[in-house]
Parts: sequence; structure tokens; C-alpha cells
Amino acid sequence: MPIKTLVWGENVHEQENPVVAGLYPEGMHATIASALNEDAGIAATTAVLQDAEHGLTEERLAKTDVLVWWGHAAHGKVEDAIVERVQKRVWEGMGLIVLHSGHFSKIFKRLMGTACSLKWREAGERERIWVVNRSHRIAQGLGECIELPNTEMYGEPFAVPEPLETVFISWFEGGEVFRSGLTYQRGAGKIFYFRPGHETYPIYHNTEVRQVLRNAVHWAHNPAPAWTAIADAPNVPVAAAKEKLVQKGPRLHRDGEEGLR
Ligand code: ZN
Repeated sequence: MPIKTLVWGENVHEQENPVVAGLYPEGMHATIASALNEDAGIAATTAVLQDAEHGLTEERLAKTDVLVWWGHAAHGKVEDAIVERVQKRVWEGMGLIVLHSGHFSKIFKRLMGTACSLKWREAGERERIWVVNRSHRIAQGLGECIELPNTEMYGEPFAVPEPLETVFISWFEGGEVFRSGLTYQRGAGKIFYFRPGHETYPIYHNTEVRQVLRNAVHWAHNPAPAWTAIADAPNVPVAAAKEKLVQKGPRLHRDGEEGLR
């Protein structure tokens, strides 16, 4: 069974900026999905901000193994109820890949719990993405680094929590460095942040970047059944304890009572 992957794009600059439209005539989400669909083990479809419920209905998310997120100009237009819905699916085990300017998306900030801020500069400078975790699933098929001739710079400090793993570190022509490939886990869901992807450069046409995207989908896929009860907080009655217990002292709640939230 191929990994059911949904590529979400805000689809704003493709419609408004002629440079971006020229690079991505069908939208960045379509180009990213085409990279994923080069792998027979992945079945990628797309959704955009402008779709009803942003294309992220309960039903569609329930059928999604890995969600890929690209947003920049319209983070604030993503409805909070849908962000909450996506967060719950990540907790249940859906993989999430957040790309480039998605560092400031509501979903990423919510899952990280930090400012997610960074430095930036749009000078079309060279980026060298060093593979610092050579045996990682996400780095398979790559050499020691990826060279991108023209990129937007993102510089440290990147205000995110300490990651589980650092897969890539970027060097920029202007001298800054940045942790470009970071992994996290939230609940049962695996999260990968990948830096490249500024919309005025052909980043998602780059062969090695496309390889990283495919690798990341395989890494983020959790084949276990969805942990749908992850947000439940059940009371365990005294009589239902694994070992025999005698009630001691006063209590606030009755056996089996719904907890406070
Ligand atoms: Zn950018």
C-alpha cells in the first residue's frame, strides 16, 4: 500500500507573482506532489487554502498518512479549528513535513510551542546544505552536501525546541548557518522541518531536494493504527486497579467520573 500523502499549499504567490507563477505554473503544491509521485511507494494528492475547509476535512485527514505543509503569505487565514484538527491527527500518528516559511505556520508554532523565529535575507545567495546525519532515512541517496545556487538565507538562532535529530545544517554565502533539517515527535506523529523552498527560486525542481522530500515521507510514515484515544484522560476506578487497592483518605471525584479540563 503506497503512503497516502497530502501536499497542502496556500497557493497565494503562484496566483499573484509572475516569477512564482513562471516557476510553478500549476502551483508549488503540484510540483511537490509530482516529486513525491516519482516514488511508487507514495500516493500524493494536493489541497489548497482556498478549498472548502482548506481541503483538510476530518474524512480526508483520517485517510492521510503524511501531510506536507507549504505556507507563507496567508498563515493567518488558516482557521484555528482546522489547525486544531491537524494537530490532533499528528498526535494520533499522522506524519507532518513542514517546509521553508511554514516555520511560522499556525500548525508548526502550535506543535513546537516556541516563537519559531529566525533571521532571513533575500539576496539569491548560494546555500550549501551539509548532511550531518549521513545514515538517516531522510538523507539516503544524497552525497555529503546539496548545493543550491540561489536561495533565500535563513539564519540562526532558529527559536525551536531542541530537535530529536539534526539531519542537515546549511551554510550561506553571506556567512550565516541554519539547522535546515530537524526531526520531532509529538504524540504518535513524526515531524520533519525542511528549510529550502523560497518561492522565487526553482528549489522544488532540484533533484536532490525532491529526493529529500520522498525520503521524508517514508521516514514520517507511522504504519501503526491511529491512536485516536490519545487525547482521552480516563479515570481508573479503585476496584479496577491491576493490584487490589483499599481506598484511603478523602477524594474529589467519583469512580469513572469525567476528568476536569
Ligand atoms: Zn521564503
